[in-house]
Amino acid sequence: MIRVLPDTLVNQIAAGEVVERPAAVVKELVENSLDAGARAVEVEIEQGGAGLIRIRDDGKGIAADELSLALTRHATSKIGSFDDLERVATLGFRGEALPSILSVSRLKLVSRTADAEHAWELGGAGHIDGAVPRPAAHPFGTMIEVRDLFFNTPARRKFLKTEATEFRQIQQAVSRIALSRFDVGFALRHNGRRVFDLVPAAGDEGRLSRIREICGDEFVTQSTAIDESRLGMRLHGWIGLPSFARPQADLQYIYVNGRLIRDRLLAFALKRAFADVMHSTHHPAYVVYLEVDPASVDVNVHPQKTEVRFREARQVHDLLFGAVHQLLRRLRPEPERHHQI
Ligand code: ADP
Ligand code: MG
Repeated sequence: MIRVLPDTLVNQIAAGEVVERPAAVVKELVENSLDAGARAVEVEIEQGGAGLIRIRDDGKGIAADELSLALTRHATSKIGSFDDLERVATLGFRGEALPSILSVSRLKLVSRTADAEHAWELGGAGHIDGAVPRPAAHPFGTMIEVRDLFFNTPARRKFLKTEATEFRQIQQAVSRIALSRFDVGFALRHNGRRVFDLVPAAGDEGRLSRIREICGDEFVTQSTAIDESRLGMRLHGWIGLPSFARPQADLQYIYVNGRLIRDRLLAFALKRAFADVMHSTHHPAYVVYLEVDPASVDVNVHPQKTEVRFREARQVHDLLFGAVHQLLRRLRPEPERHHQI
């Protein structure tokens, strides 16, 4: 017998892809805050995210009559047509994160828009389905609380690693986003303890201090800035010197139009650029930003949106390889002259 699956089950299935662990929930929620124009985002975690994930932002908020829509599958304020999809400028666009998270946790949503007299909330105790928003006290912006993640999907909950491991993933997720938005403040707390408080950074000095906070002092002193434009694309950021070779590929950040991506081709281009100056068992470190025409890159490849497809993959590869290779060549000391004896 063929039947149409109930919404909750559909959302739980989607949750398997969109939010496979607490860090993925944090990523989705913080991205929503940024899409809402937040200038400050606070992330509070308990028990590695299995107990509580609470995100507060000062973004534009959600109107009372749209709160339950925000939790509905395929409901989004970010795109409305296929044309929009062709040039997505927001981090989200699929309208899947909130309903997916809702289907595998106990969720509470509180929000206040600029023109509202007070905030409104949905969830917390009781069922969200069909619930009417209640008036609440909260400053402008949005607060989302996710408790007991995967409480109703025991198989998933069992797959959670230790609290420390899950938290490390969360810290990485927030750090990655913080490296893409220097103009926004990010605070992170775990079990009541302050992990970092990144103030909005202005100018090179401010950027460097954020890089230092996230990538460490050593990376800052052993890296060099890069800024190259070619064929309407721009590559900028910081490249670790060959002396800063790492045993693991753990300090490699590539952003495309502000979105952190994992792309084998791009990582390979950078690895190849280092081939002359770094042993192949070691990994280069870098934080690089690529700005390309949004229409020349497809971000709708995977639900987590960390994969992209370039229309001109070869040109992008060549820009990365060429610019970094040249930079490393310039930095290299003159080859030793061998005197004939
Ligand atoms: P998407 O981000 O793909 O649109 P989500 O499920 O993540 O889908 O969010 C659904 C909608 O809820 C968003 O389109 C947005 O309108 C609203 N929303 C979610 N989080 C926030 C937030 N922090 N501030 C304002 N609006 C939000
Ligand atoms: Mg989203």
